[in-house]
Amino acid sequence: MSAANNNLQREERLLMLHAIHRHLSEELLDEYVRRTLPSEDAIAFVEEHLLVCERCRQIVRETDDLVTVLRNAFAAAAC
Ligand SMILES: [Zn+2]
Repeated sequence: MSAANNNLQREERLLMLHAIHRHLSEELLDEYVRRTLPSEDAIAFVEEHLLVCERCRQIVRETDDLVTVLRNAFAAAAC
């Protein structure tokens, strides 16, 4: 009984590690930054990964910077 529980916990840990080490695609991160993800679930999925993944947070920051630069450029062009 307790051995089975341990095995289950071990499997969950492995699955978690797997989820952590499989990075999100840049497409997905891009949609997240642009707020164009199709569902709350998708947003929650991305945010959960960002909590534990410095690499993907970095990509989000870079994409976010790029989007801001583009927005500013468009805003300046509109003036
Ligand atoms: Zn990642």
